[in-house]
Amino acid sequence: MKTMRVAQIPAAKQAFEIVERPIPEPTPGTVRIKVAACGICHSDSVVRDGLFPGLSYPRIPGHEVAGTIDALGDGVPGWKPGQRVGVGWNGGYCGRCDQCRRGNLFACETQQVTGISFDGGYAEYMIAPASAVARFPDELSSIDAAPLMCAGITTFNALRHSGAQPGDVVAVLGLGGLGHLGVQYAGKMGFHVVAIARGKDKEPLARELGAALYVDSQAQDPGAALLALGGASAVIATVTAGAAMSAVLPGLAVNGTLLVLGAADSLQVAPWILISGRRSVKGWYSGTSIDSEDTLRFSARAGVHSMNEIFPFERVNEAYDRMVSGNARFRVVLTMK
Ligand SMILES: [Zn+2]
Ligand SMILES: [Zn+2]
Repeated sequence: MKTMRVAQIPAAKQAFEIVERPIPEPTPGTVRIKVAACGICHSDSVVRDGLFPGLSYPRIPGHEVAGTIDALGDGVPGWKPGQRVGVGWNGGYCGRCDQCRRGNLFACETQQVTGISFDGGYAEYMIAPASAVARFPDELSSIDAAPLMCAGITTFNALRHSGAQPGDVVAVLGLGGLGHLGVQYAGKMGFHVVAIARGKDKEPLARELGAALYVDSQAQDPGAALLALGGASAVIATVTAGAAMSAVLPGLAVNGTLLVLGAADSLQVAPWILISGRRSVKGWYSGTSIDSEDTLRFSARAGVHSMNEIFPFERVNEAYDRMVSGNARFRVVLTMK
């Protein structure tokens, strides 16, 4: 039997171990992917730390997968071996449940999460439901594409559904893994981009990425700074601190929306701010496979790039710790041989 190497979490709160497993065979409705690269995301900590209810171990995380289809299960028309593809957080949908029939594919009642409900991309091969698979444009390398499968789609998809129009003031709160992509997307979409982060030192990078204005939230009230521009039609909040999100709320324009992408524990909202300007606070789910395809195509055409630190698969524990440290600039990507 042919085997592959995988990086698995043997039980909650334990380090990664690299083990050999049989290469799995694709079941009906799935494809097998030979993984070329896989990004490490903060959300992978739910596997490592046992934060997802009902998670079974050992588990292979990884939902920023880039690779090539290598074998097909029965009943997957439209896919063929050799196609370059990726898989993100959304682990596919059934197409038959009430939510799917209403067009809310992301909320499928049978929804699975890649690398959580089933094994993900920290491995030489993985099996994915065909509905979870996104085609890659030729121009993007696997390393370039991998982080776009979560950090990219989340910011791109939120921005294009934010209701903001070209020329509108749009703010990106946070300048990390998600934020450094969000600033680029917002600029390429034609918004007047304000980047908000802590500290003066991030300003040159923010401007380089396409921000027209940088607000150091330690030196300046970010809400007041946005109001001085007439208010932001949309703010995408990539941070995980509720207080930082609350601080930008007064800077929303009339009919403006705060799109929450970072899973903060809680968030304080003054109802009068919402009522008086018909403002809203809304969560945004990353998206499904077709949203990933749109993200990748836009990124390739517009020249949006994730800044990545690359680690060989064998150094998975070091790479994971680097991501958790918050010091990585800005995404961490594992590469396979
Ligand atoms: Zn993620
Ligand atoms: Zn469904």
